[in-house]
Formats: sequence, structure tokens, C-alpha cells
Amino acid sequence: MGRKPKVAIVGGGIGGLAAALALHRRGLEAAVFEQSAAPGDIGAGLNLGPNALKAFRALGVEDAAVAVGVQTGQQIIRNWRSGRVILRQQRGDAIARRFDAGFLTIHRADMVEVFLRALPESLLSFGAACTGVEQRGAVAAARFADGSAVEADIVVGADGIHSAVRESLFGADAPRFTGCVCWRGLVPVEAVAGSDFGRDMTAWWGPHGHVVHYLVRGGALVNFVAHYDSEAWTGESWTQECERSELTETYARWNASLLRLFESSERYYKWALYDRDPLDEWGRGGITLLGDAAHPMLPYLAQGAGMAVEDGCVLGEAVARLGDDPAAALRAYERARMPRTRRAQLGARERARENHLASPFARFRRDLRLMLRDRLGRKTAPLYGAWLYDYDVAAVENL
Ligand SMILES: Cc1cc2nc3c(=O)[nH]c(=O)nc-3n(C[C@H](O)[C@H](O)[C@H](O)COP(=O)(O)OP(=O)(O)OC[C@H]3O[C@@H](n4cnc5c(N)ncnc54)[C@H](O)[C@@H]3O)c2cc1C
Repeated sequence: MGRKPKVAIVGGGIGGLAAALALHRRGLEAAVFEQSAAPGDIGAGLNLGPNALKAFRALGVEDAAVAVGVQTGQQIIRNWRSGRVILRQQRGDAIARRFDAGFLTIHRADMVEVFLRALPESLLSFGAACTGVEQRGAVAAARFADGSAVEADIVVGADGIHSAVRESLFGADAPRFTGCVCWRGLVPVEAVAGSDFGRDMTAWWGPHGHVVHYLVRGGALVNFVAHYDSEAWTGESWTQECERSELTETYARWNASLLRLFESSERYYKWALYDRDPLDEWGRGGITLLGDAAHPMLPYLAQGAGMAVEDGCVLGEAVARLGDDPAAALRAYERARMPRTRRAQLGARERARENHLASPFARFRRDLRLMLRDRLGRKTAPLYGAWLYDYDVAAVENL
């Protein structure tokens, strides 16, 4: 590569920071512009598969992430009311051998912190809210709410599900409300002493909804997310607080141990789930998208954060190899990433149907199928398909 390209990344979330680190490790500096005034403790649990851990390895932060997260022992699916185990799947050593990495659950803020520690502070600007982007000849520019602008060879929109960069490139999108509302909370493990909140990822499947819980912050906190079919709320913000009674009333007939968990959180947040179609293009000229800005997905495959980190790694490699021609580097990155992220977006949409079956007969049939699968010894065959976890950013082709 001749001259090193100047890169500006809009959004200092999981994907933006992963991209900055991938570039930094290749001797390329990328300035990150984050709208929050400072890194905060907002958000809750992220669930990461072997594909994400292999990406952390490529970025040199796998050990740091494992140190603040919790390595998952098993994935357990239970009946919403009785607690009967429908499926029990190993996520520990056997899976780690099969996919060359295991599963990890981690607090979002802890993951952001791991990335920030690995990056020079000088690359990061907080309080920088992007309002739009434009391409002027060979110059890609991002504008900010305070009237300032930054010019670069490459601008990456890693600004999350409500991306200002995506809207500036392609216009406002028209997401579809899925009819599903999510609540989340964090509970100190001592508050639910006596309950079995081991290193398992537990999901409870019931009529019209499901609940997932797992440990984060080295095992100090239980993170729960409760999904329910409801038209009563349509806000999409990550930071909307709500009353405890919304949860305890919605899940009043569910297993008592879940209600105890819900009652032990101090704060409750809710958001409505929206679905968006995969985009046919992610960028133009020296501008591209990454992470949720490019491919927002429903949470049912637990791949939002993992795919954003993968994007960052592949972007770093594409720019390092082809950075003399920024537009060519970005189109190569997009070509390498679009098929996989599209498949994950559509796959997550498909799973949404199965988790919330309302008819008792349909639920019985689904549970029986899973129980048979379990009993027939497929305890390490991933429920959602090996293609998600086989992927290794260190072996990406097509660039
Ligand atoms: C506050 C918050 C809480 C979250 N909580 C959870 C959670 O509890 N569970 C879960 O599974 N997922 C959560 N997520 C989403 C999850 O982190 C992402 O789906 C995933 O990590 C993909 O990462 P990303 O980098 O593409 O997007 P994000 O992690 O969403 O990061 C986007 C970043 O861009 C910044 N940004 C947005 N707009 C602008 C702008 N105009 N200018 C500059 N910066 C901008 C945001 O502040 C954010 O830091 C949360 C995201 C956020 C922002």
C-alpha cells in the first residue's frame, strides 16, 4: 500500500470499536466519533458464539473478554410453566473443540471497555453526533451536530440500528414492528441466592413469549431478557425505563423462579422489536456501513454483536489489502460480508415464529421434536446450524 488511507468511523459501539482495533493492529489509524458524552454503563447482556470469540482472538482481546465475561456451560430450554427441560445442549469444552472457541456472555459496557483499553485514547472523540455524510470527488465527509465536519478517504457508519449514515446514504427506512416487546433487567446473584443460575444460558419457551437469562460481569449479575407478543408498546430505544408491574403482570402465570428473578431487579428497560429487510447495497464511494447500521437483525440467533465484530475484522483486512483504492476496498468488504449477514438476518426472522407458538398442539410437537433430538445424542450439534460458528475471520476469502 502506498499512502495510508485516512479512516473516520461514526459510532463507538461494539462494531465501530472492533473496526478501529482491526485497523490499528494493521498500522492504520481510524478516528472514532461517538455521540455519547462518555463511555457509559448502558445496556445489558451480549451473547457471543464461537465465531465472535475467534474474531476477538484475531483482534488480540479474547483473553480480556473472557476475563470479564462468563463462559457458557450449557444451553437449556425449559417449559415456561413447569420448568421441565425440553433441550439441554453442551456449550462448554466439546463445543470449544468442535468450533475452536466456546460461547461467552458479557455485559455490553464491559465489552466496550475491553476495546477502549486496547485502543489509543487519541483516536476517540465523544459527544460527536453525526448528522449525515457525503462524497465529494475522492473525499468522504461526515457532518456533526455542532456544525463541524471531518474529511477522510473512508467513512464507516457503525452508528447502530438508527444509523444517521444509512439514512443519509439511502433515505429513511421503513422497519416493520414485529408485534413483540422485550423487557430486560440485571440482578445481583446474591439477590437470587438458592436459585440455580450456574454458567448456563437458559431459555423458557411459552405461549406468546420466551425468557432468556444468563450470567455476566464475571458471574456477579444475572441478565434477563423477556420477549412477549404485544401491540401495547412500539418504542425502539435501548434506554426506556418501565415499571416492574409490566413484567410481573405479563408473566404472572409463568414459573415462580422466573417471577422471583424479575422481582429482584432494581431497574427495568423495554423496547419494541422491529424487523428490517436486508439492504442490497451498504455504501457508495468511500462510505460504507457496518454492524447494526448495515444489517440490523432480530435477536433470535444471538448474533448482532458477533456479526458486528466480524464486520470490523473483515473491514480491517480489506482496507489493509486494498487501501490504495478506498472504494474498491469497501466494495470487497461488502461483497465478503453481505451473504453471511443476510442469511443471519433472515434466519433470525424464521426463528421468531418457533419461539412464541401459541397453540398448545404446535408447542407440544415442537418440544417433542427437540426432546427427541436431545435424547438421540445430538447434544453438541448446534441448534441453529454450524454455519454460524464455523466462520473464522482469520480465514476470510473473496477480498
Ligand atoms: C445503549 C445501547 C444499549 C444496548 N443494549 C443491548 C442489550 O442490552 N442487549 C443486546 O443484545 N444488545 C444491546 N445493544 C445492541 C448491541 O450492542 C448491538 O446490536 C450490537 O453490539 C451491534 O453493534 P453495533 O456497533 O453495530 O451497534 P451499537 O452497539 O448499537 O453501537 C452503535 C454506536 O453508535 C453510536 N451512535 C448512534 N448514532 C450515532 C450518531 N448519529 N453519531 C455518532 N454515534 C452514534 C451509539 O451511541 C453507539 O455507541 C445496545 C446498544 C446500545 C447503543
